[in-house]
Amino acid sequence: MIRNFPQTMVSAASLGKKAFLSDIAPTNGSDCKNCGGMGMLFLFVATDGPFLTPASPYRGDGKVSKWYGGKWWAGNTHSFTCPECQGEGRGS
Ligand SMILES: [Zn+2]
Repeated sequence: MIRNFPQTMVSAASLGKKAFLSDIAPTNGSDCKNCGGMGMLFLFVATDGPFLTPASPYRGDGKVSKWYGGKWWAGNTHSFTCPECQGEGRGS
C-alpha cells in the first residue's frame, strides 16, 4: 500500500542527511495499516554520519546513535500522529 505521511514529517525528513522510518507490524486485522496500530509514526532524522562506531553517549548535543542499513547514524527520533487513524491506531 501507499502510506500516508503528514507534511510535517516530510519536512522533518528533509532536515537530515538521511531519515529512517520505524518499521510497522500490524498484529491485528483491525490495526491501522499506515502506523501498524501505534497511532503514531516514528522517524529517525540522522543529521550526522555514517560512522563505524556509535557516537553517543560521548556526544554532548542530545543526539543519539542508531544502527540503520549497516552503519551508525546520529540524530533524533521525531514522532507524528498518524494521519490515517488520527492517533486511534485502528483501521477503517
Ligand atoms: Zn494509523
